[in-house]
Amino acid sequence: MAEGVAYWWRGRLHSEREAPPLAVPLRLVKIEAVEWLCPKCGVRAEWGPEPRCPRCGARCEPRTLVEEVPELVDAIEALERAFNRACKARVRGAVLLEPFSPLLPLFAWRVLDVELPDGSRLVGVYAGKPRFLKRGFHNGSTATFELPGNLAVIVWSGGVVECLVFEVEEPLKLVELLSG
Ligand SMILES: [Zn+2]
Repeated sequence: MAEGVAYWWRGRLHSEREAPPLAVPLRLVKIEAVEWLCPKCGVRAEWGPEPRCPRCGARCEPRTLVEEVPELVDAIEALERAFNRACKARVRGAVLLEPFSPLLPLFAWRVLDVELPDGSRLVGVYAGKPRFLKRGFHNGSTATFELPGNLAVIVWSGGVVECLVFEVEEPLKLVELLSG
């Protein structure tokens, strides 16, 4: 396992050796935290203006801890890193598919539910060039719109749905890995 790196998959951290193929590599970031301990019995106090031991009432003393926590990355960065572990992958674009978006997807994605490190969810994947229907608002005309790339993923995040598009070496392999 590389120093200071962990592999994130569906809410759990793994070492490199045991990480599933699409686990997201995340740097571990050192942060300093302070905890208040009772000098007599070692009990940890709740944070307060003057922390006191919940057992004996003695005044507690601060101790600085260094903790390693995984860095926070957004969905597109997490997916690019994950896909790159399995094959060569590059981000090619993104469009919003919120309810009033002028673009409607013209492809049938495979429905999934994969949690991503930022709390968003990958809810669908499509292997192929993603095409969208542009709604005609006033004159009823329609047109289509394509994004470059050969793998589209649909990501849900706080009520907003986005289509992220990648150019990858083996789109079908990635669809299988995501479905597994
Ligand atoms: Zn105490």
